Amino acid sequence: MEVKVGIASFQGDVEEHLAATREALKKLGVKGLVATVKLPEEIESVDAVIIPGGESTVMGRLSSYKKSLDVLKRRIDEGLPVLGTCAGLILLAKRVYDRIVGETGQPVLGVLNILVERNTYGRQRDSFEAQIDVPPLGLNNFRAVFIRAPGILETESDVEILAYFAKRPVAVRQESILGTTFHPELSGSTAFHEELVRLAMGYRSR
Ligand code: GLN
Repeated sequence: MEVKVGIASFQGDVEEHLAATREALKKLGVKGLVATVKLPEEIESVDAVIIPGGESTVMGRLSSYKKSLDVLKRRIDEGLPVLGTCAGLILLAKRVYDRIVGETGQPVLGVLNILVERNTYGRQRDSFEAQIDVPPLGLNNFRAVFIRAPGILETESDVEILAYFAKRPVAVRQESILGTTFHPELSGSTAFHEELVRLAMGYRSR
């Protein structure tokens, strides 16, 4: 079986996800293709998609143009596996909050049943690393890189919490939707990308 994984390339750290996904395919011995996707017809052609970190407001606006956001939302609603990291997680969230402006009202996919707060760790801790455990993926001391990371404030009952840091959820799953507040593409481990490839294979062989 051959799977095609798309990296949403509206904005953000696309290259790192291309590399991590290629590495994940190699590790799993799965034949596949990894390509950037932006246009609706490109989004239609993939078996899984990754929404990278970056700036969620910019990403939301750029993806609304030419209706790519709508196509992505429809495909995810229909079961397309997706991994959203950092700003990508914000784009997936049903509700987005900002300490200063409150609910941001920015364009998002709204498919993941969480309330997320942008820039939750404040300025002085813009970026940091932490060792976390991700038991459902069999990971101990996973190196999680947080860059102006969001915080998950609430999760609905259909959202499984995969990992915590400082008592807050930092990785979640809701059916075929995976989300992290950190950047797994910078961790040196391809575990999250491998999980997405497994979901893509399942989706492909439905
Ligand atoms: N702070 C960014 C946002 O709110 C996310 C940062 C990131 O993706 N590294 O969109």
